[in-house]
Amino acid sequence: MTSTNPFAGPRPTLDLGIPDFVLEAREHVPCRADPDAYFKDGLRPREARLLCQGCEHVDPCAAFALERPELSGVWGGTTTEERRAVRRRSRTELAA
Ligand code: SF4
Repeated sequence: MTSTNPFAGPRPTLDLGIPDFVLEAREHVPCRADPDAYFKDGLRPREARLLCQGCEHVDPCAAFALERPELSGVWGGTTTEERRAVRRRSRTELAA
């Protein structure tokens, strides 16, 4: 049976605060130990960003979050506001 749910498929488990690709990683991932510091706005973003710098997923994680405006908190070393600014700049450059 085929799903008619447009939101079906792999999605971050935001209800738990931890996305699937982080949960499934075999190596140590800093945000897995303290997800509230990362995936909620306003909770220790400075510390979370520093820990992201040592994570081997930092680039794909930032790209993942950049493509998903619904995500908040620190992802791939970027804050919600920084990603919003990048999207705004991209739209402006495309319109020019
Ligand atoms: S880059 Fe940061 S938010 Fe992304 S998986 Fe690594 S520690 Fe978690």
